[in-house]
Amino acid sequence: MSKSTDELFKNVISHAKEYGFVFPSSEIYDGLSAVYDYGQNGAELKNNIKTYWWKAMVQMHDNIVGIDSAIFMHPKIWKASGHVDGFSDPMIDNKDSKKRYRADQLLEDKIERYAKDGKTDKAEKLEHDMNEALTNEDLPRLKELIIEHEIACPVSGTRNWTDVRQFNLMFSTQMGAVADDADVVYLRPETAQGIFVNYLNVQKSGRMKIPFGIAQIGKAFRNEVIARQFIIRMREFEQMEMQYFVRPGTQKEWFDKWKEARLQWHLALGTDAAKYRYHEHVKLAHYADAAYDIEFEFPFGFKEVEGIHSRTDFDLKQHEKFSNKKMQYFDPEVDPETGKPYGNYVPYVIETSIGLDRMFLLTMINAFEEEDLSTEEKQDSRTVLHLHPCLAPVKAAIFPLTKKDGLPEKAREIMDRLKLDFNIQYEEKDAIGKRYRRQDAIGTPFCITVDHQTLEDDTVTIRYRDTMAQERVASADLEKIIGDQVSW
Ligand code: ATP
Repeated sequence: MSKSTDELFKNVISHAKEYGFVFPSSEIYDGLSAVYDYGQNGAELKNNIKTYWWKAMVQMHDNIVGIDSAIFMHPKIWKASGHVDGFSDPMIDNKDSKKRYRADQLLEDKIERYAKDGKTDKAEKLEHDMNEALTNEDLPRLKELIIEHEIACPVSGTRNWTDVRQFNLMFSTQMGAVADDADVVYLRPETAQGIFVNYLNVQKSGRMKIPFGIAQIGKAFRNEVIARQFIIRMREFEQMEMQYFVRPGTQKEWFDKWKEARLQWHLALGTDAAKYRYHEHVKLAHYADAAYDIEFEFPFGFKEVEGIHSRTDFDLKQHEKFSNKKMQYFDPEVDPETGKPYGNYVPYVIETSIGLDRMFLLTMINAFEEEDLSTEEKQDSRTVLHLHPCLAPVKAAIFPLTKKDGLPEKAREIMDRLKLDFNIQYEEKDAIGKRYRRQDAIGTPFCITVDHQTLEDDTVTIRYRDTMAQERVASADLEKIIGDQVSW
């Protein structure tokens, strides 16, 4: 990371804390690694991102419905899905520093270093060797590569490594009062399985016809080996997932459609397209026949925000096997080739899975600007979040110019009206300029000032966040002015 991008990232993190977006969890007890809390503005921004996603998925598609399944599920589900046996990362310890690392992460960092130093051949060769070792789950080979490429521990600088071992990422706990093995339950590491096991419930109760989708937003838990980069890699995080059930043989067509549609969802927020790229998976997960990530250019480089996976019929077939319940769908539509209905089959699944917290960070970084407003006469600057008005935590702030002459009462009267439609904040402390800065810092698109003239003709001054332009408008027009910008 160059100094300026490093600084930008640090500034975003401290801004997020200072202005009530993200706090380290359990801070007064020195925090809990890779766990974070969302503050008053963070919770609003997060909710708005969820709404944007939910509306794009569920409201805009008459064949997609949303559910909310439990975090705890029958332990056999995680056997069937492959998570008990296979949801692990290759881990390695440094004997001197006693620090634990992901073997693949150490290698990826080295690849990046080679690439930065212009050693393209070395980077490509190591990437190839690493992918081969990961595909073959060849743990000794991963260690060999770490030794061969002289990778040192980032903390101690030594190369005294243990063997590579698999580390399961699922958290487990006990259900009920009796602590024996039968009671072990897992905190779900993905929301998808809650959709798979309910797919027939939804299909039957909603009379859904293929193709159809089920969407869900919810918490997922992973005991990540290393916690890095703020809310990019958390141990408790949120996913927004949609599983789209399709007729076997049509998965490629739907995969391409969703891959494109999901990128468009990101770009519709006005983000520069150059900041996004697709990344095709070379090493496919055991359940997938195609997978792409949508990556965003964070200050520390491109990083996955969303995955689009063609999951075949793997999960449903596994659940059929482990539960002994039929997972088949009856398709009454006539196959033009045979002239007969398609009949019974286990659907194929296309999945779109976006991390809400990574989307949150992306949104903050994208919106953050330290703007120089200096003129020849004086130095000035402001920190502003250019959030899309739909996502802004507070839609408008109302300021009485002074705390007397009935101005606070008038301002509150306007606020009481507007708050029926929008999240509004009232502020009367400090000079107007300072109040503007505080609202800029949380991304409020409109500031409304009530002054003496308001008492006479019911007009107010509205000030726009991005241009800082001000105009006099009728108070009665405020719902329309704000509504035009912040409605979805
Ligand atoms: P990574 O390779 O970065 O670990 P992944 O491929 O394991 O991610 P998926 O299992 O595809 O991720 O999960 C879908 C989405 O969930 C990811 O695109 C990411 O946005 C989010 N996600 C996954 N793990 C975490 C985490 N530990 N913290 C925050 N978000 C996460």
